[in-house]
Amino acid sequence: MSIHEECGVFGVFSSAQTNVSDLVYYGLYALQHRGQEACGIVVNDDGLFYSHKDIGLVGEVFGGSKLRDFPKGNMAVGHVRYGTTGGSSRKNCQPIEVNHQKGKMAIAHNGNLSNAYELRNKLELTGAIFHTTSDTETIAYIITKERLNAPSIEEAVSRSMNILCGAYSLVVMSPAKMIACRDPYGFRPLCYGKISDGTYVIASESCALSAVGAEFIRDLLPGEILVFSKSGIESRKEHCSTKTKKTCIFEYIYFARPDSKIDGVSVHKARKKAGHILAECHPVDADVVIGVPDSGLDAALGFSEKSGIPYGIGLIKNKYIGRTFISPGQETRVDQVKIKLSAVEETVSGKRVVLVDDSIVRGTTSGRIVKLLRDAGAKEIHMRISAPPFLHPCYYGTDIDSEEHLIACKYTIPEITEMIGADSLGYLPKEKLGDLIESTDYCSACFDGEYPTPVMTNIPKNKFEQKISEAK
Ligand code: SF4
Repeated sequence: MSIHEECGVFGVFSSAQTNVSDLVYYGLYALQHRGQEACGIVVNDDGLFYSHKDIGLVGEVFGGSKLRDFPKGNMAVGHVRYGTTGGSSRKNCQPIEVNHQKGKMAIAHNGNLSNAYELRNKLELTGAIFHTTSDTETIAYIITKERLNAPSIEEAVSRSMNILCGAYSLVVMSPAKMIACRDPYGFRPLCYGKISDGTYVIASESCALSAVGAEFIRDLLPGEILVFSKSGIESRKEHCSTKTKKTCIFEYIYFARPDSKIDGVSVHKARKKAGHILAECHPVDADVVIGVPDSGLDAALGFSEKSGIPYGIGLIKNKYIGRTFISPGQETRVDQVKIKLSAVEETVSGKRVVLVDDSIVRGTTSGRIVKLLRDAGAKEIHMRISAPPFLHPCYYGTDIDSEEHLIACKYTIPEITEMIGADSLGYLPKEKLGDLIESTDYCSACFDGEYPTPVMTNIPKNKFEQKISEAK
């Protein structure tokens, strides 16, 4: 699997001064699977902002004394990033901070705007100057612009939501307030919980609430704005129910952690359900079911439950592989899949194996895993995929980017089976996606091309960087 996660956001609001940076640090650790390129924290100590952001994992960026350098505060916001719009350069690290006479602001964003390109073009023609190539800066600019005439920051956020289109789960921190908001489609998850009276946390996934000992309160509704301030918590719902909910179904299949719940549905349960469906739709005689770690494991368990074929540990993942494995040089031509994964011979040797993974993108990784199992003595390999074939790019915050790179756009299922060297191949039927979450309100555009919003199909991921180089 070579799809990268998108981003993770985390915020803390406390009525008393406390070690808010520590809480964000632990929260970001729990969200690390959503982005491993860069991270950052901004602490608000009585209206003064202190920040540190850099390229690297949470433990690398905030190791040493970095965390101790933060003062106590009553609010903080944090972000882990995988750059889906704008490269991975240091300037694109989040949270993005804005200094303006109407007040400071720090903003952390998960998702991608589908109208970022048009919005930024329009703003630039009115004299706006951007410092990053990330669409989050466009959101920050629009909120700041709306703030000129709005009576409050939350009103500015609400007015901005009339302009922004696409996927955005945001945590916005002003000197006196913390605002969480989820776009009206609810593409990306966002939830909040309580640590103690007066101390609340907001997170992309519920696993991060558990990590800091917070009691889960609820998911934000699509379109909801939650305002945390000294006067309490206010929920604004003027953008709720303006659109049909379109939560990303791939959050359940791959992005989110299995111990998270999104909109009341356990990710682990949804993945097991995918395994049940695969066993029903693509049955096979086999001796053992194994999963590709990590996100194929739950579906493999489900396949085993439904089929009665024993579940086994057939692949081990090297836990110490960092965000990008860098090969030492051209001469040492070692298959990177072998560094990341190894086969358990005792499980697969001489066996007919059902191999469950969450997706096939280009097919190269799947082919290498199949070979790894053959080398370990597997007699037959029946690949089952807990998602339908990818046929379209995603414009809402993932790097499922162009059709030319998607194997299912170019080849038939029998051809892919042959290319990856498997004995059979079965995908989750796309009409069964709703069964995973017992709802019809989800986005599945990368599988069926039915985009919930208008999208600019001719604009690539690194659109703003291209724009800069075109102008040179
Ligand atoms: Fe999720 Fe696919 Fe929709 Fe993107 S296009 S939001 S990955 S379901």
